[in-house]
Amino acid sequence: MSVAVRFAPSPTGLLHVGNVRLALVNWLFARKAGGNFLLRLDDTDEERSKPEYAEGIERDLTWLGLTWDRFARESDRYGRYDEVAAALKASGRLYPCYETPEELNLKRASLVSQGRPPIYDRAALRLGDADRARLESEGRKPHWRFKLEHRPVEWTDLVRGPVHFEGSALSDPVLIREDGRPLYTLTSVVDDADLAITHVIRGEDHVANTAVQIQIFEAVGGAVPVFAHLPLLTDATGQGLSKRLGSLSVASLREEEGIEPMALASLLAKLGTSDAIEPRLTLDELVAEFDIAKVSRATPKFDPEELLRLNARILHLLPFERVSGELAALGLTEADAAFWEAVRPNLSRVAEARDWWAVTHAPVAPAADDPAFLAEAAALLPEEPWDLSTWGTWTGAVKAKTGRKGKDLFLPLRRALTGRDHGPELKNLLPLIGRTRAQKRLAGETA
Ligand code: GLU
Repeated sequence: MSVAVRFAPSPTGLLHVGNVRLALVNWLFARKAGGNFLLRLDDTDEERSKPEYAEGIERDLTWLGLTWDRFARESDRYGRYDEVAAALKASGRLYPCYETPEELNLKRASLVSQGRPPIYDRAALRLGDADRARLESEGRKPHWRFKLEHRPVEWTDLVRGPVHFEGSALSDPVLIREDGRPLYTLTSVVDDADLAITHVIRGEDHVANTAVQIQIFEAVGGAVPVFAHLPLLTDATGQGLSKRLGSLSVASLREEEGIEPMALASLLAKLGTSDAIEPRLTLDELVAEFDIAKVSRATPKFDPEELLRLNARILHLLPFERVSGELAALGLTEADAAFWEAVRPNLSRVAEARDWWAVTHAPVAPAADDPAFLAEAAALLPEEPWDLSTWGTWTGAVKAKTGRKGKDLFLPLRRALTGRDHGPELKNLLPLIGRTRAQKRLAGETA
């Protein structure tokens, strides 16, 4: 059977780096295996799901290049969940319960105070028809729990190795709410079974769900997929990431931090694995290097500084064609490969190219603090056309004429030509500045 995986976010907030890492790992797994990648929106929580979050998820994945082969939305599938729920009720695996949230809290608190695990006591299973009729006549509506079998549940996790749960140590999960709506624990299994998902790769916050869901797969007659539970990313201080706080959201990394998609992908593909984090310019390279066996069980920390350093290293390698759109969006519609290659070694973010565009193409107030020397240098400026050899020819002549060398020679020229002490190599900048501007700046004029 061909490999099929899914990324199943709830559209209840912005995707953060931890969420999108799971998307990436699923996508890489699918591509490596020649399988397919499903994007499924888990949107049965109608109060909290929002169309703008769904659009945000699609935008973030598209930006990263994580294209999906199939798409599903749980809210389109209520009819199917009802059908499965009816079958589970008929077979006695789903049973009605009438406790209110307050009653359940009391039960839980009392068990915990006795030092016992807060497992549901199955009181509802002991109700007779008359009890249920009485509760319903009081206006109570049932929620429905799945009756777990009290036997061991085991699987071999691709990240955690052999995992073992005792069914008796788990609470019968609620699958249908009082208002009749199905919950994630059920819907996810029905979808994974119907859509023939072969590998469920998700965060380790779902390990206990898996134990329960394996029994649900078996009860609905679905093939049980292979599972892999990855440790969740934390921030640099070790705190968990929250979708609702928008902390480290993909949107803010893209729109506010100027992060390149391949910088984020290069980091997230390797974080928490045995591979070194290196800049990669294409997802294909990450596919070639991917192996889920390299994912470690240790909790990986996401450090925004590390991402920014990787972003800089990626920019230093990216060809002009890969950034021309971004440069145009910054208003640099006339930027060309020569400009990009001149400035990219000095950038951490593409937007910083604007500064260097201003230095090469807009008036600059020079720092002309050695006028006699600059006048001598100006007199030696070669005629145009200029190219990458002009700087060497010119400064060779200035050196011969003035006897200056090193910093004494180069710094006053840099300060006059760019108004700054540091920047891209002047060999590359000089032809972009051009003779007319250079001459004026060397004369101390804003040009
Ligand atoms: N909607 C669930 C979540 O976002 C999906 C978990 C799963 O992959 O099954 O946590």
